[in-house]
Amino acid sequence: MHYEFSEDFATSQDQYDSLSLYRNRFHFPLINGKKAVYLTGNSLGLQPDKAEQYILQELEDWKRYGVEGHFQAKNPWFSYHEPFAQLLAPLVGAKPSEVVAMGSLTNNLHVLMVSFYRPTQKRFKILSEQKAFPSDLYALDSQARFHGFDPAEAVVEIGPREGETIIRKEDILQKINELGDSLAMVMMGGVNFYSGQLFPLEEITTTAHKTGAIVGFDLAHAAGNVQVDLHDWGVDFAAWCSYKYLNSGPGSVAGIFVHEKHHADESLPRFNGWWGNKADSRFKMERNFQPFHSAEAWQLSNAPVFSMAIHRASLEIYNEAGMKALTEKSQKLTGYAEAVIQKINSDAGAELIQIITPADPAERGCQLSLVMKKNGKGVFDTLTKNGVLTDWREPDVIRIAPVPLYNSFRDVFDFYSTLKTIL
Ligand SMILES: *Cc1c(COP(=O)(O)O)cnc(C)c1O
Repeated sequence: MHYEFSEDFATSQDQYDSLSLYRNRFHFPLINGKKAVYLTGNSLGLQPDKAEQYILQELEDWKRYGVEGHFQAKNPWFSYHEPFAQLLAPLVGAKPSEVVAMGSLTNNLHVLMVSFYRPTQKRFKILSEQKAFPSDLYALDSQARFHGFDPAEAVVEIGPREGETIIRKEDILQKINELGDSLAMVMMGGVNFYSGQLFPLEEITTTAHKTGAIVGFDLAHAAGNVQVDLHDWGVDFAAWCSYKYLNSGPGSVAGIFVHEKHHADESLPRFNGWWGNKADSRFKMERNFQPFHSAEAWQLSNAPVFSMAIHRASLEIYNEAGMKALTEKSQKLTGYAEAVIQKINSDAGAELIQIITPADPAERGCQLSLVMKKNGKGVFDTLTKNGVLTDWREPDVIRIAPVPLYNSFRDVFDFYSTLKTIL
């Protein structure tokens, strides 16, 4: 695509953008009395317009009905979680029976690994990526230790080659083959939170399965950001949070995927709770657990209705817009953000900013990670003061995420002109 670095160009791109009106369905923070240029949807997404109304509905029904709200509320709490399967499935390329909105991300990873990390003396290694989100590595280390293994031996991290910033596909696949029958599980990010690299999830899955390993992905930075086809790729399990791209509020309810090939496998160990019991016999409160033959079997507790109310407001918008249109816009918008950085460098006649996110749109979502060669923290603070919200990672990285659902070409242009002035 051809890009120009003028306000006119940016606003005309917004006029052609069929998704531009979705911007009006989110609340933007105000800085100096003006809507912020919000480029941190990868950290905490914006509040959907209906979130407040949906929560108030539940507060009202609780006020009015008390316990009877389980059945009498406008959206009965007894079955509150059920419509979420339909809403979540298209976001991660799953069948509705394979997804559940539940729990929180790190909790869910543990709950899933109870079933899917079952090491033996010979096959006990876990492959993850270097610079994975710390919580994931803590979870993996503690799982290894829980099973009596030394994490230093059990958890293998694949990283970039010396002097490089992204992890080469061939290196990941080769590492999987090299680990061979010692590899119990691949558990890595879909999109790395630091570099923004989208990993070749399908090939990882196929290669790991050939060695006999299980494959799980943390989609915290992938869900709602890039197209994934968990079912067709045969991924065993996945988990994500909903407060980043999925705009469902701080610490809001998360989600899991369990491939249907595992649903009827009664030999899988699992930590159970009453909400994993089939709906028709759940309230008989019988001694014997009768699990769903779906991802719902992994569900432990009754639905956290208040956070799910917000989640619903967000997922409805996602389903209206559709992942296909969103990813198409995303490539153009992030391409524009990339172009403005290149323009800044070429005007300066020096590389002031290095983009460490892959240049190939097939290997990234909307996030760009920018290594600031000089005074990065100062630049970041000044951007914030001037109403441009980005994200700082020590020692020198600014992450920006032009989110196709609510960011505009004009936002990217405003980021550019503010950054140019500061530099
Ligand atoms: C954001 C994020 C988390 C956060 O975990 P919570 O359990 O939601 O606090 C974990 N892992 C990854 C990869 C993340 O991006």
